[in-house]
Order: sequence, then structure tokens, then C-alpha cells
Amino acid sequence: MGSEVFDVIVIGAGIEGSSSAYHLAKSGQKTLLLEQFPLPHSRGSSHGQSRITRYAYTQDYYTHMMLDSYPLWDTLEKEAGVNIYKKCGLLNIGLENGNFLGSVAGSMSRHGMDFQSFQSSEFQRRYPMLRYPPRSGAILDPMGGILRADKALAAFQTMFKQLGGVLREGETVKVIRPGQPLVTVTTTKGEYRAKKVVMATGPWTSKLLEPLGLRLPLKPIRITVCYWRENRETTPHSSDRFPCIIDGGQDDGEEFHVYGLPSEEYPGYVKVCLHDGPDIDPDARDEADDTWVREKVTDYVRQHFPWLQGSPGIVEACIYTNTPDNDPVIDYHPQHSNIIIAAGFSGHGFKLAPAVGKAVTELALNKPLSYNMAPFAVSRFNAASSKL
Ligand SMILES: Cc1cc2nc3c(=O)[nH]c(=O)nc-3n(C[C@H](O)[C@H](O)[C@H](O)COP(=O)(O)OP(=O)(O)OC[C@H]3O[C@@H](n4cnc5c(N)ncnc54)[C@H](O)[C@@H]3O)c2cc1C
Repeated sequence: MGSEVFDVIVIGAGIEGSSSAYHLAKSGQKTLLLEQFPLPHSRGSSHGQSRITRYAYTQDYYTHMMLDSYPLWDTLEKEAGVNIYKKCGLLNIGLENGNFLGSVAGSMSRHGMDFQSFQSSEFQRRYPMLRYPPRSGAILDPMGGILRADKALAAFQTMFKQLGGVLREGETVKVIRPGQPLVTVTTTKGEYRAKKVVMATGPWTSKLLEPLGLRLPLKPIRITVCYWRENRETTPHSSDRFPCIIDGGQDDGEEFHVYGLPSEEYPGYVKVCLHDGPDIDPDARDEADDTWVREKVTDYVRQHFPWLQGSPGIVEACIYTNTPDNDPVIDYHPQHSNIIIAAGFSGHGFKLAPAVGKAVTELALNKPLSYNMAPFAVSRFNAASSKL
């Protein structure tokens, strides 16, 4: 055939693909990482300077993965010689004694993690820059903090190349031709073959997956990333005084609605975003109307952040790829066991990336699995996938 042969081809150099490629190369696999855009780019889900990290999850299987992710981030920092994690705490906000805070506390307790609970009055006293209704409480995950996203992404890619991995950017995968023992991948520039293929294609996953006979309920949405200027000279939202926040909402579900990060990448500006947005085609992200998002988040900031200006000073865009249960798909293609899918991270996959890369490597090498992968199985969508 004349095409180059690899052990594994990873498609997509976002955080999940870059971490997967790094872990595969570390395991001695001859790995090719293909990215459609010249790097770095801001068209997918992994760009920008900051992401929240935390142990505090309502589901045990994520807290368990985070127990691994923290030391793996630490290893990456040391190997690449860059500072990725900044500890500033993560404050979960919800109804005092409600489901959201109860689930977070439960998962943290079961994993022996430290946390602090604040009833309403203590919460208001500790955080005067926040204003929430009387029955609101909070749980502080002291290990929560900021991941320097762009640095993390570059560090995985740099280390991958140092480990002997091949990274080709500006090269779009057009066709994946399944086969045993080799899968053939045709790009805009050539053809490659590999024993295994990993699809870490974020919002573009359905476009490549549907020709392979699989329709998954992956829904790309546009996220409007808003930064709000402090209206005080004293910078009360700097990371030494103000933690990241996640608001579980007054309806007391187990999912969060709004999140925020301290003033960090743009000094004097605080990132506060709605965890929702309009459906999009990832190739037409900025054509979507996000008026309702801007209105909702503006109302929120005006109500809850008295020390921020009432309209955003900086606005950027990003994409989530949501699934109906907000859990990703990390699994084999049901008909082609040498094709692995890692997509649908539903707006919370950055912090998990080291564990995801490890899990993908275990799947690719048929090794024993370190995590509970059942929540990430393709099979949970069997009914939905045939209808989509
Ligand atoms: C505004 C915002 C805030 C967030 N905040 C947090 C947070 O605080 N904490 C957290 O943990 N997570 C957060 N997330 C989620 C996290 O960033 C994502 O879950 C994660 O980045 C998903 O990465 P990915 O690799 O799956 O997707 P992507 O980064 O989109 O990567 C997919 C890559 O595949 C490439 N690709 C696609 N198709 C092809 C093809 N045919 N050929 C070649 N390449 C292809 C794309 O160009 C892209 O680079 C946030 C996301 C956003 C948008």
C-alpha cells in the first residue's frame, strides 16, 4: 500500500487526544497524532488559559479519576518544566443541606478528601464578594484550583514529541477505513495505517463516526466565555482571596449551572460563564445566536457578584460536546474493536485528561482498566443512537 504504519493513530490534538498520545508514546507505542488545524488553535474545546480542577464531584467515579489526575498533572509539570496547576480552592454553592452539596460532600467523604462546609451565615461572612439568597450554603474543596490550559496542552504535545511521537498539524482526517489487523486513515495530505485508531475529535466526532455506522447523541454547543471587570481597586477576586466557584443552582439538581474563576489571565477581570449555550455545527460556531446566554449570565452576575461590573468586558467563545447524561464516551467502536472513541466530555473534561489518556491507553493495549468505565460505554446509548 505504501502508507506509513503506526501502532496507534490518535485523531485530534485537543487535550484528550494530546494526553492519549502522550500516554501511548510513554507506553512504547509508535504513535501518530493528527490535527486538522495549525497549532495552537482556538476552534475546539481546549484553548484558552484557564480551566477549573477539583476533587469535588457528585459522582464517585470522577472523584476516583481525579485521585489519579492530580499526580499525573504533577508529573507532566515536572517533565515539561512548566507550571500548570494553581491551587486556590473550589467553592461549590447550593442550597444549604440540599442534594447538590450533599452529593459533593458524600463523594469527598467516601474518598477521604478534606473539605469545609459553610452554612449560610458563615458562607456570606467568608465571601463578601458573593451575594446569595439566605438558604444558600457552600462546600470548599481546598485542592480545587486553576489549570493553565494552554500550557497544559502544549506540555502534553511537547512531551509526546520528546517521547518519539509524530505530530502532524494542519492535516484533516477525511476517511477512516476499518480493517483487521490495520485501520487505514486518509487525510488531506496522505494515508496512514495503524493497529489502533483513537478518535479524540471533540465536537467533530459525529462527522467522522457516522460514516463508520455509529450515531451517538453528541451535541456540540457554543459556550460564551465572559470576563467581568472588578469595580473595586482592591482586587478582591484575585486567586489568593477568591476561589473558583461552581453554582449547583437553586433548583437543587446534581448538575451545576454557572461557574467562575478568579481574576487570573486578564488581571482585574473575573471569568463567570453559563454552563450552557446554543446548539451548533462546530464549523459554524460563531454564527449561533447567543443572546439568551448573555442575558442569563448578565442577570446572574448582577445578582450574585456585587463587586463586578454589570456587563462583560471581554467575551470569547469555546465549544462543549454534550451527551444526554454529561458523561463522555470512552470505549471501543461496537463493530470495530481497534477503533476507540474518546469524546463528549460535556464541559468538564479538561481536569480529567491525564486519567482519560491513561484509560485510552489501557483500552488500546487491552490492559486491565484502572477506572470504572461503565458510565462511559457506548452501549448506554443503544436506544438513542438508532433514532438519531
Ligand atoms: C469555555 C469552556 C470552559 C470549560 N471549563 C472547564 C473546566 O473548568 N474544567 C474542566 O475540566 N473542563 C472544562 N471545559 C471542558 C474541557 O475544556 C473539554 O472537555 C475538553 O477541552 C475537551 O477536549 P477534547 O480533546 O475532547 O476536544 P477538542 O479540544 O475540541 O479537541 C478535538 C480536536 O480534534 C480535532 N479534529 C476534529 N476532527 C478532526 C479531523 N477530522 N482531523 C483532524 N483533527 C480533527 C479538532 O480540531 C480539535 O483540535 C471547558 C470547556 C469550555 C469550552
